[in-house]
Formats: sequence, C-alpha cells, structure tokens
Amino acid sequence: LPNKLPTIGTSIFTRMTQLAQQTEALNLSQGFPDFDSPPQLLEALKGYTSQGFQQYALMQGLPALREQVALTIQQRYGWLPDTATEVAITPGATAAIFCVIQALVQAGDEVIVFDPCYDSYDPATRLAGGMCIHVPLQSDFSIDWQRFKAAISDKTRLVIINFPHNPSGAVITLQDLKTLYDIIEPYNILVLSDEVYEYLVFDGLMHASVLGLPELAARSFMIGSFGKTFHVTGWKTGYVVAAPELMQAFLKVHQYVNFCGVTPIQHALADFMQQHPEHINQLASFYQAKRDLFCQLLQPSAFKLLPSRGTYFQLLDYSAIRNDLDDVQMSQWLVHEHGIASIPISVFYEKPVEGQRLIRLCFAKTEATLQQAAQRLCQIA
Ligand code: PMP
Ligand code: GLN
Repeated sequence: LPNKLPTIGTSIFTRMTQLAQQTEALNLSQGFPDFDSPPQLLEALKGYTSQGFQQYALMQGLPALREQVALTIQQRYGWLPDTATEVAITPGATAAIFCVIQALVQAGDEVIVFDPCYDSYDPATRLAGGMCIHVPLQSDFSIDWQRFKAAISDKTRLVIINFPHNPSGAVITLQDLKTLYDIIEPYNILVLSDEVYEYLVFDGLMHASVLGLPELAARSFMIGSFGKTFHVTGWKTGYVVAAPELMQAFLKVHQYVNFCGVTPIQHALADFMQQHPEHINQLASFYQAKRDLFCQLLQPSAFKLLPSRGTYFQLLDYSAIRNDLDDVQMSQWLVHEHGIASIPISVFYEKPVEGQRLIRLCFAKTEATLQQAAQRLCQIA
C-alpha cells in the first residue's frame, strides 16, 4: 500500500474525544461547544430541510450567504468584496485550507508555518508534494519576524498564519501584519490566513485581519468558519475571501474536491445572519464571559493560566503539579485519574519545546460544565 503520510496517525482530536467518551471524562479537549446554536438558526434549518432545497448549491456557494459574508467584511474593514469573484463558500474551513494548498503548492515548494500550528497544514502540504518549514513562535506565541525572514527561500510559495491562534489564544496586531507584508512584498509569496476565530477576540481588542490591509489582502486567502461563529462545528461550513485571480485558482480545485457546500445549511445561515446581526456583535463578550468565569474558577488551583486574548482555548501550565510528566503523559493522567480530557500542545510542533508543560482546554462550554471541570482541576495539588 502506498503510504503518502508515513508519519501521520489518527489526529489528537479524534483520539482525545474517543478517550473522553470511553472514560466518561469531561471533554475539554477537541474544540466544540457543548451547547446548541441559537434556536432561530435551528428553526431556519428545519424550514430548509423540507422540499425544494435538497439539491446541489452553486459551486461557489449560495449568493445570499456570499453576500452576508461580504457585508460583514464591509462593516469591519470598510470595503465590499465582489461576491461574484471574491467570495466562496466551502464545506468547512479545513476543506478550504486543503484546496488553497492544493491550488498553490507544487512538488518541491516550501510553505512556512508557525509552531505550534493547526494539524491540517502540514499533511495538506505534503499531499501536494511540498514541504512545510516550521518556524517556532516566541514564548508569548507572537511571530519572530527575523526568524520568518530567515526561513524564506526561493522555494517559498506560501506562508500560513492563524490568529486568533489555536492552541494559545494569542492575537496579532495590524502592525505585525504590515511587517508581514513588508517582508514578503519583494517575493512571489502568498498568504493563507486562517481566521476561523475572527470574532473571538477579547479585552476590547480588535481582530486584525489580512482583509484590513488592501495590499496584503491582494496577496491573501482569508479563511473563515461558520462553525465557530454560530456554535455549529458539525455543520462543516466555511468560506474563502480572495482577490479574483487567486479565487479562480482556488475554485479550480474546490470544484473537484467539494464541488459545493451543503444547500439547506447555506440557506439557514444566510437567513440567520441577515435577521440576527446581533449574534456576531455579541459573540466576543459571550465568550469573554466564559473565559473570565473559567479563569476565576481556576484561580485557587495549582495550574498557572497563560493569557488567552482570543479563540475558545485556554492554556494551563501544570509544572507546579506534575513536572515529571510531559504533556502527552499529563493529558493521559488527567483523563484517567481526574476525568478531564485536554489537548497536549506538543503535538502541534515539529520540534516540541524542551521542558514545556502546557495543556489546552476548551472553554466553549456551559457554565455547569465549566464549574464541574474547575472543581476537578482545583482538587489536583
Ligand atoms: N483552523 C483552525 C485553527 C481550527 O481551530 C479549526 C477548527 N478545528 C479549523 C481550521 C477547521 O474549521 P472547520 O471545522 O470549519 O473545518
Ligand atoms: N479545531 C478543533 C480543535 O482545535 C478540532 C477540529 C478537528 O477535530 N479536526 O480542537
């Protein structure tokens, strides 16, 4: 059997969620809410699962949903993408990322990623015949621009950034994005900006998007996910915004990988976005309240909390508890001995940081789940 991904096994998310189910632990590992989407969105979907909406959608996505995406961009970044040439809907952000990489990367090309990085970038690059150059983020999970510069070669085709950042919750500044542009400007390098947590930015900060800088936007694929924004990760619906020429390259691949997204889901999302703009406007404070509650509940624990400025993830330093365990061992110990499923972050690195003692917990949970989890975590000395 050909083995195109010899070093890749089953993803950490699948393994930890399975383990949580087997051990009946609280599952704070894989990132997903344990509550439903707003009832109006579920009602809207019900309407579209009846007759008349069960066939293929347009390859590029339902026009009404593309329009809603374009309007959110106009509101936030002051320009209106052309829905005919610059916006596409996909069955999830993961599929969008995969197609962008397949569209751009040729055998021998290099893609720069920043570790710790989301687990799909590297395998998708390998399947295209390329190779990821992993540049470590700094200890506060910001980009070291000198190291980035040094990683560029004449084979560099693409750089992938992801802010708000999974797994750390770090955010990026507009100044950093300007620096990114200045560095790549002389080269033929494009940007894939994974912004699936674009609305989950806390403490009064503004999300900095590649779409906020016209010259960077012209070179970028911005990727979003309705799953994160509307508490429907299982609906697997995402989007891409890119300049017309880039969008053309993307669509060539998308039409043969996905062809289109799911029809009734696109209708329901478009209606809901149009009728309930308050959902998006309140999302940051909704999740900030969860972060604040979780952190407050964990205050008496022996874990040290790292700052989370975005996403729905919180990093915990456990060095004061079990410094003898690496993070994979720690997550096993936590799930088996204390009924908490977490994600060890070393799996997101090409070369894990020696002595790093961090696990990731997802706080997209009800107050009751967060309280129960915190109670268990506070009992660990
Ligand atoms: N990128 C990042 C950084 C993510 O955390 C996720 C969600 N797991 C995705 C992409 C994938 O999003 P989707 O579920 O829409 O495919
Ligand atoms: N993005 C989710 C996380 O980081 C997992 C998605 C998946 O399971 N592929 O937890």
